[in-house]
Amino acid sequence: MPFSTIYFDLDDTLYPPDSGVWEAVGDRILDFMHNEVGIPLENIVETRMELFNKYGTTLRGLNINYGIDIHKYLAYVHDIPLAQYIQPNPGLREILLHIPAKKFIFTNADKAHARRTLAVLGLEDCFDGMVDVLDVQPYCKPDPGAFDIALKIAGELDYQHCILVDDHEQNLQVARQLGMYTIKPHSCATSTAADACIPNINDLSRILDPLLKEGGKNGNYS
Ligand SMILES: [Mg+2]
Repeated sequence: MPFSTIYFDLDDTLYPPDSGVWEAVGDRILDFMHNEVGIPLENIVETRMELFNKYGTTLRGLNINYGIDIHKYLAYVHDIPLAQYIQPNPGLREILLHIPAKKFIFTNADKAHARRTLAVLGLEDCFDGMVDVLDVQPYCKPDPGAFDIALKIAGELDYQHCILVDDHEQNLQVARQLGMYTIKPHSCATSTAADACIPNINDLSRILDPLLKEGGKNGNYS
């Protein structure tokens, strides 16, 4: 089988990007930067953007520049009432359970957050494993080093046998350069890094079914 592993980003991929989760986590990140790191209120939004753009995650930027405790940060910023923002997705559950390939969560968050999120979505038993931000240290997506570790964890040897489903354009860009087939959920119009786009994550079968049957990379599924 040409494609043997599918990596799924978690946040804003397995649920809609307008869910409010990212904003809630974002507020917690700003709280952490002010309350725990001591960055003045007037500088935190700008500092967070600089760190995110330079290091891929605010976490990595805060760790490198301020020496923060990674575990404390991850617990703090993901301490939000998830069920207020996202709901079970039984349709996606059916799709995932019938995919004839290994399925891994590949997230720049941690496994605790991933488990809580999957539990709320009703998807906790749909994956073969997880690669989180702690697994890929000192890297994180979109560093190629993070992808190398993700392949090793899934027991893959060849990027061309792997698919990435991710809402983040830079992650798709690197994955595609490495040889993965890339699928962007939720927004089709603007991507230059996705081999295929789907308006809703529940449209996944439309792309995956022919790919997993034929294994071709040449079709235009956008
Ligand atoms: Mg995402």
